[in-house]
Amino acid sequence: MAEIELRNVSMRFGQSVALADLSVSVREGEFLTLLGPSGCGKSTTLNLIAGLLEPTAGDILIGGRRVNGLPPKARRVAMVFQDYALYPHMTVFENLAFPLRATRTPQPDIRRKVEGVAKVLGIDPLVERLPKELSGGQRQRVALGRALVRDPQAFLMDEPLSNLDARLRVAMRAELKRLHRQLKATMIYVTHDQAEAMTLSDRIAVLKDGILQQVGTPRRVYERPANQFVASFVGAIGMNFVACRLEASGEGAVLAAGPFRMPLSRGQERAVRECGEQRAVVGLRPEHVRIAGDARGLAATVELVEYLGAEVLAYLRLGETRLIAKVGVERSPSPDQVVHLEMDWKRASLFAAESGVLIAAETEA
Ligand code: ATP
Repeated sequence: MAEIELRNVSMRFGQSVALADLSVSVREGEFLTLLGPSGCGKSTTLNLIAGLLEPTAGDILIGGRRVNGLPPKARRVAMVFQDYALYPHMTVFENLAFPLRATRTPQPDIRRKVEGVAKVLGIDPLVERLPKELSGGQRQRVALGRALVRDPQAFLMDEPLSNLDARLRVAMRAELKRLHRQLKATMIYVTHDQAEAMTLSDRIAVLKDGILQQVGTPRRVYERPANQFVASFVGAIGMNFVACRLEASGEGAVLAAGPFRMPLSRGQERAVRECGEQRAVVGLRPEHVRIAGDARGLAATVELVEYLGAEVLAYLRLGETRLIAKVGVERSPSPDQVVHLEMDWKRASLFAAESGVLIAAETEA
């Protein structure tokens, strides 16, 4: 397996910029996910690494070697797509053997490799079947297997689970993770599904409009999002944002928006002042907005309650401010009820009012 590095890679299609000055390195054996909304440049990045596209600028290195201009075959990376692209008239065995026959691998080696890969993926009882005789998940495994037999330097996966139903997706997600641990393979995975990115990745690279926003571990990206875009994109329910003004109060500075008031530590106050603005956006994850057992804390009106099973989402209003709280069912409020909130201010992120860039976060990730 090999490390992969992109150095200042840009890609234009005519006048439109699909990727701007992307630099990221993927360590040997690492699982890196490219995450972002539709059109942000994820597939373009993968295609550039695979050699299906040539960058307008910048260098691509695989295993320390510059591969710009090399044809896909010479790069020894395997791609797995969302439409499995299996040959319908070939059995599973023949589908798996196909890349090996193409490279004139001797017959006994083909058998050994195909059987080994089929076993790893748990599809060994299915090798004589045709793709139409398989379930979606089994077909996905064959597609993965076809990448595996080639013994590539890295795997590039473009939304490989998106054709599966929700339950199977979760099952295949766990399998992929197990496979990654077993193979210790370098994998670059493309998805717009933040849950997939969070569960699978060693690190996540978040893209928007062809521009890299942040690279970090799932925890880091969740707890210390580099800007408001990352904060809203990562997390099953986006972060709450409250646009506030800096005000002095008896106990020190606060960020205030009507009745919403966040007390600031010295460090946070300094960070806000250093922005040169008297404003900032407070970001709070729904799980950091709690409903207090007593009448202390900020009063809020419950507008709506959504039941999720283990938790409920409470949609709250404090003056003009709207917040979503995620609370245990035992704390579930009722619509129109007035509740009191206990914020976990230590977990709040502060963003610059104009640029949306993170200016202070107290948590250690
Ligand atoms: P999705 O999740 O929808 O697949 P993506 O993040 O993978 O999106 P890309 O397919 O990489 O996005 O596309 C990035 C940008 O480049 C988009 O604006 C897209 O329209 C543009 N683009 C991609 N391929 C081409 C092409 N061959 N010609 C012109 N523009 C292209």
